[in-house]
Amino acid sequence: MTTMKAVVFRGNGQIGIEEVPKPVPGPGEAVIRITATTICGTDVHIVRGEYPVKPGLVLGHEPVGIIDELGPGLDAHYRVGERVIVGAITPCGQCFYCLNGSHSQCGGPLGGWRFGNTINGAWAEYLLVPDARANLASIPGNLDDEAVLLCPDIFSTGLSGAESGNIKVGDAVAIFAQGPIGLCATLGAKLRGAGLIIAVDTVASRLDTAERFGANVMVNPAHADPVEAIKRLTDGRGVDVAIEALGKQETFENALRSTRPGGTLSSLGVYSGKLVAPYEAFYAGLGDQKIVTTLCPGGKERMRRLMEMIAQRRVDLSPLVTHRFALDNIAEAFDLFSHQRDGVLKVALYPDAAGLRRAETSVKGAVPA
Ligand SMILES: [Zn+2]
Ligand SMILES: [Zn+2]
Repeated sequence: MTTMKAVVFRGNGQIGIEEVPKPVPGPGEAVIRITATTICGTDVHIVRGEYPVKPGLVLGHEPVGIIDELGPGLDAHYRVGERVIVGAITPCGQCFYCLNGSHSQCGGPLGGWRFGNTINGAWAEYLLVPDARANLASIPGNLDDEAVLLCPDIFSTGLSGAESGNIKVGDAVAIFAQGPIGLCATLGAKLRGAGLIIAVDTVASRLDTAERFGANVMVNPAHADPVEAIKRLTDGRGVDVAIEALGKQETFENALRSTRPGGTLSSLGVYSGKLVAPYEAFYAGLGDQKIVTTLCPGGKERMRRLMEMIAQRRVDLSPLVTHRFALDNIAEAFDLFSHQRDGVLKVALYPDAAGLRRAETSVKGAVPA
């Protein structure tokens, strides 16, 4: 049996590198060699025991890699050696939900999210990709791994907040929290043609990045009541679209209070416990407001569209990748990311030390040691 290195969830608060069997592709499946991956806020919830997964599972749902082996039925569509990404969400394209257009809910609630949730994920040397024809997306030749690293989840999710909110040209939009997903939602508001874009966060450096990503007004709730500030900026009405990108009662409530009658609250956060909609913010349920939720859109066509935005230089996500680690140093990377130290937004993880050296060299423009 061939084995590979992988980061395994061992129970609450515990992850570790282990040798596990290398996957073998069945019909319609592919195995990719992971060249780069990253850590998501959702992984932090999992490791802390706030979202249950089985001990022994390989975590991670943001794969960039090279096709290593194709199962039966794929030779006419892909070739070994092709560079690909796979969405965090891997819809089958066949089931009730997929054929009704709810790809992320493939097979049932949240069912499209399989990597690092219900099947082994991307924090490994190799990854088994189910329903490969629906999910392997070829990387345009000129884009390096880090350029597309955020497409599988963060970029797709953040943009979907703006898309599901149905932002129109000239809309006033407020985005609550400017972590990686909130920043991509801010970018999405700009791409959809919003007029006023208000970014809300308590971290000054994140508000600086929000400005680079298209926000006109930065509001820090540590210094000002964000709802009052937003009402003042919108003639007392509130915004057309508010995007919630944190998953807390406070930000949900503020987003709702900031949504004008007839407006839309587009929610991206992952909540736990009970979520309360206050009477006055909800206009007693008579304000014609819409509340929409979105789980990261996946599948190869979504990935193609996102990579097209990067290839055509409509967006540059490189400011979001702030740190790089070998996968062997997952403990250190996870500690930094989960405590949000050192201005971290996203970390790039490299299973192969040579890949890490190449990435560091291309960033610094230095000569390899
Ligand atoms: Zn994620
Ligand atoms: Zn499906």
